[in-house]
Amino acid sequence: MMRPCYPVAELLGDGIGPELSRAVRGLADALPIRLEFRPVDLSLEGRRSRGAAIYDEAVEVIESCRVALKHPTVTAEESPNAVLRRRLNLSVIHRPVSTIPGVPTNFTRPLDLDIVRIATGGTYDDPGRPIGEDGAVSLRIVERQPVREAARYAFNFARKTGRRVTSSSKYTIQRATDGLFERVVKEVAQLAPEVPHNVELFDALLAKIILTPERYQIILVLNEYGDFLSDMACGLAGSLGIGASANLGFDSQAVVRVALFDAAHGTAPDIAGQNKANPTAIFLALAMLLNQLGELTIGEALKQTTLDLLLEGVRTRDLGGSETTETFTRAVADELRRRL
Ligand code: ATP
Ligand code: MG
Repeated sequence: MMRPCYPVAELLGDGIGPELSRAVRGLADALPIRLEFRPVDLSLEGRRSRGAAIYDEAVEVIESCRVALKHPTVTAEESPNAVLRRRLNLSVIHRPVSTIPGVPTNFTRPLDLDIVRIATGGTYDDPGRPIGEDGAVSLRIVERQPVREAARYAFNFARKTGRRVTSSSKYTIQRATDGLFERVVKEVAQLAPEVPHNVELFDALLAKIILTPERYQIILVLNEYGDFLSDMACGLAGSLGIGASANLGFDSQAVVRVALFDAAHGTAPDIAGQNKANPTAIFLALAMLLNQLGELTIGEALKQTTLDLLLEGVRTRDLGGSETTETFTRAVADELRRRL
């Protein structure tokens, strides 16, 4: 039987990037679909030898594949993540954060959040300026378009996964900016009446997530709230280093045009080339990519298999286990073949 085939842009990076790439290729061979990887070398060496042209190529390959998997890169003259975000107009970040059963944490309650964050504006686009000696001011910017894109993405994701959406801001105080945010979210929510939606003040939400985490699923927020919430949630879940995220760009109809998936961790130069890197985060990034391609069964199986093996104690050294990058990858691939 012919396996369906999808082109996937793969952005090669630095440090542990090459061994993560090999792990991904090994894992992809175990899938009942074919991923045709189109590599672009975004390593420091690649960027230095090709100059700006390497980004032209990356953008072209990503636009044509529509989905991309990015390995960690070092930030030198420029941050490749920032360049790609700007050039591809990636305006929304989707960051799942969930407890990994068996991975020890201080917080013992199960947490399973999908944080959908507007990646631009809020208070982050303006560093501010002093006013005289003793004051300073900065702008807070909220625009309809990225809010609409994030909201449409969040409600679509909710519809596909049967989850509920909580939008959160400080609309009672930041009436113009956060008020606009909640109004646009409400307009989108009205088009998806089957998706449960509620609104919480952001300060109260932080307390409630800690008190009753099971009540929260998809959380839709402006830039800085998403920044704070992602790190808090990662701290609670103990999964700072094994998280992945999707960076999303949209067309004029607020439909996903390109999606770039990456791991939360960096290049880990201290263990590069030693077969010690934990590929969990890039596997979870690949699982999100498969979901974006519409291969929900395979994406879910990849995520679940990886988590199940971690729970059974099949872990790399950073999580207290004795597996190498290669043996962990083989274990996930073998189990995935059995399940699919
Ligand atoms: P960068 O500057 O690219 O962010 P870094 O030195 O800050 O690199 P990180 O990748 O952020 O390194 O990671 C910090 C620590 O976590 C390092 O000791 C690194 O070895 C470890 N680490 C990060 N990612 C992984 C991984 N996938 N597997 C195992 N250890 C990791
Ligand atoms: Mg780092």
